[in-house]
Amino acid sequence: MSDHDESAVKELYERLDREAKSAGYHLNPDREFTSILVEGLFANKERYGYMLCPCRIGTGDREKDRDIICPCDYRDSDLDEYDQCY
Ligand code: SF4
Repeated sequence: MSDHDESAVKELYERLDREAKSAGYHLNPDREFTSILVEGLFANKERYGYMLCPCRIGTGDREKDRDIICPCDYRDSDLDEYDQCY
């Protein structure tokens, strides 16, 4: 990963952290683990043009993947059931 990508990932992390907090959520406090997911989101944004969940297999079609674009449709039910998203 280039220095440019690293700083873009860090920026994305900070933005997602702010957005999560302002919506009443929080990112996983294990920063190392969460950084890997944010890198995945960044890579998918570069690859597909949208933030496909890094833990799921998408189609590359934004409409078909709509439910698994972060934050996905399953976040709240996963939080209710498991206290964390998929
Ligand atoms: S909120 Fe959904 S899309 Fe975002 S990381 Fe969690 S499981 Fe993936």
